[in-house]
Amino acid sequence: MTEAADLAPIREAVRALCANFPGEYWRRLDRERAYPEEFVVALTKAGFLAALIPEDYGGSGLTMNAAAAIMEEIQASGCNGAACHAQMYTMGTVLRHGSTEQKRRYLPGIARGESRLQAFGVTEPTSGTDTLSLRTTATRDGDHYIINGQKIWTSRAEHSDLMLLLARTTPREQAKSRTAGLSVFIVDMREAKNNGLTIRPIRTMMNHATTEVFFENVRVPADNLIGVEGDGFRYILSGMNAERILIAAECIGDAKWFIAKAASYARERVVFGRPIGQNQGVQFPIARSYIGMRAAELMVREAAALYEAGKDCGAEANMAKHLAAEASWAAADMCVQTHGGFGFAEEFDIERKFRETRLYTVAPISTNLILSYVAEHVLGLPRSY
Ligand SMILES: Cc1cc2nc3c(=O)[nH]c(=O)nc-3n(C[C@H](O)[C@H](O)[C@H](O)COP(=O)(O)OP(=O)(O)OC[C@H]3O[C@@H](n4cnc5c(N)ncnc54)[C@H](O)[C@@H]3O)c2cc1C
Repeated sequence: MTEAADLAPIREAVRALCANFPGEYWRRLDRERAYPEEFVVALTKAGFLAALIPEDYGGSGLTMNAAAAIMEEIQASGCNGAACHAQMYTMGTVLRHGSTEQKRRYLPGIARGESRLQAFGVTEPTSGTDTLSLRTTATRDGDHYIINGQKIWTSRAEHSDLMLLLARTTPREQAKSRTAGLSVFIVDMREAKNNGLTIRPIRTMMNHATTEVFFENVRVPADNLIGVEGDGFRYILSGMNAERILIAAECIGDAKWFIAKAASYARERVVFGRPIGQNQGVQFPIARSYIGMRAAELMVREAAALYEAGKDCGAEANMAKHLAAEASWAAADMCVQTHGGFGFAEEFDIERKFRETRLYTVAPISTNLILSYVAEHVLGLPRSY
């Protein structure tokens, strides 16, 4: 499957923007565990984060393939889109399931970058991957809901104005089905911070601005409920394909960065009187990484094309994410090995990218859960959990 040539200008524009944010910029942030504010503002101003918002709501109205190309180029340039990628896809829940009034209220501001919707509150400490057993509750009280509970790994919460929150509105034992009783809300964190919401950063091995969020009697207007009360799990699931495809594209970008870096070093580094890349023991792992990346890239494009055509792409989006995350991790490992000791030196940027790309076989969905999805939904094997 080839990519439309009309994406070349977008790719070039992203590369040009990223050239203003070289390795030194990211190294400094990584040392300070600081948020790449200037980078996020630049991407927003250029309209890249509004790629999937329709033009009617002030966005760029681009295709999923174009959005994937943007994320891939960011990573392939050595930058890190994880600081803001949720701005691109989290709004999809509002776009697909929100009322016209909600779309008018939120999407143009998100497109302009005036309000950031980058926080996605699903995971909880006790439920983990088992989303249906989450414990945060939203209880109706007149024209408000009152939220109580805790989220964990809520990335970018300190740098986001809005949060898309999944909470239980009907106790599990009273819900009409296994997946019913959860609801989705837009929480305005600017208001909620003075009203029972506490954000606590979690220091992680890479600069990901992730946090724990505590809700203590946080009042959210009932108008901020997205869609129908109790149907929230379905809405969240429907946004997962976009998330998987875009993160898979990021992994492809990472893999391309590692492969280019390794190939370049292997051509230039001379040991025993010849370039190390002349040894097949060095060149084969680079070639193997390239082949793995290209195969994963095809699956990412297939998933994006199905998504764009409005077809079911659950299996392809999951497989794309799996293959791409494995390909980027394999390329990262290969890149360290190719560089020998210098693979560990901060100034080469490899160890930072190595830490960053390691995330994607765990989050936003772990490898086991993807394998389980394919086993059950594609191969018809019995459900294991
Ligand atoms: C840096 C970072 C950022 C994140 N950002 C967000 C965010 O913005 N919003 C959000 O909601 N979440 C976020 N997450 C959470 C992320 O989605 C979860 O960490 C991930 O889904 C795994 O859940 P868990 O950590 O609770 O692992 P657990 O559910 O405790 O699982 C631990 C391990 O056991 C395996 N496992 C569990 N059950 C089974 C089973 N039945 N069969 C086989 N294997 C199983 C899993 O695959 C995993 O490898 C983030 C996580 C990280 C690390």
